[in-house]
Amino acid sequence: MEFDLIARHFTRATPGAVLGVGDDCALLAPTPGMQLAVSTDMLLEGRHFSPADSPAGLGHKSLAVNLSDLAAMGATPRWATLAIALPEENDAWLNAFARGFFRMADLHGLELVGGDTSRGTLTISITVMGEVPPGQALRRDGAQTGDDVWVSGMLGSAALALAYRQGRLFMEQIDAAKVLPALYLPMPRIALGEALRGLASSAIDISDGLLGDLGHILKRSRVGATLEFSALPTLPVAQAYLHEAVARDCVLAGGDDYELCFTAPPGRRDAVQAAAAAAGVAVSRIGRITAEPGLNVLDADGQPLPIAHTGYDHFAA
Ligand code: ADP
Ligand code: MG
Repeated sequence: MEFDLIARHFTRATPGAVLGVGDDCALLAPTPGMQLAVSTDMLLEGRHFSPADSPAGLGHKSLAVNLSDLAAMGATPRWATLAIALPEENDAWLNAFARGFFRMADLHGLELVGGDTSRGTLTISITVMGEVPPGQALRRDGAQTGDDVWVSGMLGSAALALAYRQGRLFMEQIDAAKVLPALYLPMPRIALGEALRGLASSAIDISDGLLGDLGHILKRSRVGATLEFSALPTLPVAQAYLHEAVARDCVLAGGDDYELCFTAPPGRRDAVQAAAAAAGVAVSRIGRITAEPGLNVLDADGQPLPIAHTGYDHFAA
């Protein structure tokens, strides 16, 4: 039953909490002087994952997408709660899910301190809590005219994998194998977020597509940006497909990459590169913040690219 299930799968030692799973509330003692960064993300069957997906992969991804929000804030992960609805009690499924979840948690020193468990359509809702020194959180509203725009890692890999899976893009199987991990096993850029404290003027994680997510920074910061398409980092395997509009769209507006997009003054280029190297992540400079509002993407000839759409919107028709 429910309490055995929680005890078997979701109860672990939590030395970083005053009190973990098992009481009416967890008790947490944040490090004195630090601010708490708190974020919730929900994953629904049929919308964010398919019933056929591996449960261990789902445990990994559901926590990874939440950790990505902490990374985008420059916060250090501490605690999480997990609310899960399951159509039936399935021990093998829960065991694999918990394995994926705790492997990701252990990588980042995060402790599961509570949650809720119920019967229903498979739904996973996680709240993560992290710590950040006062005034050092990487917010969306700090981009300044003249700042460089940067991204971490590679763009479009997860969207290419999804397009392949959905039959919207033909890829050789050997190529698809190189992008599929980005879709199923994203890695949150926690170390990079921490290293960018005091360097980046703004940051966001790319969950819904580069253009849409950068658009959030621009709106909150009341600025615009010009990007160069040829500067967008893509895997060599992706480059072979960029003559296809679907593939270009994946790079510009594809979701699920969980890379960081951030801005910093040009005088900090070396410091940004050093921070990224220390975090073990490649970063690329892809454009500039402009005083004029709007987002332009230029092709190799300096001409604006037509933009089909900017990203994933859950409420779009
Ligand atoms: P309550 O009725 O007080 O909400 P529950 O029976 O829902 O208590 O939960 C019992 C304990 O187990 C609580 O400490 C709760 O935080 C924890 N818990 C429940 N579900 C989960 C879960 N999926 N993961 C982690 N902890 C959980
Ligand atoms: Mg409860």
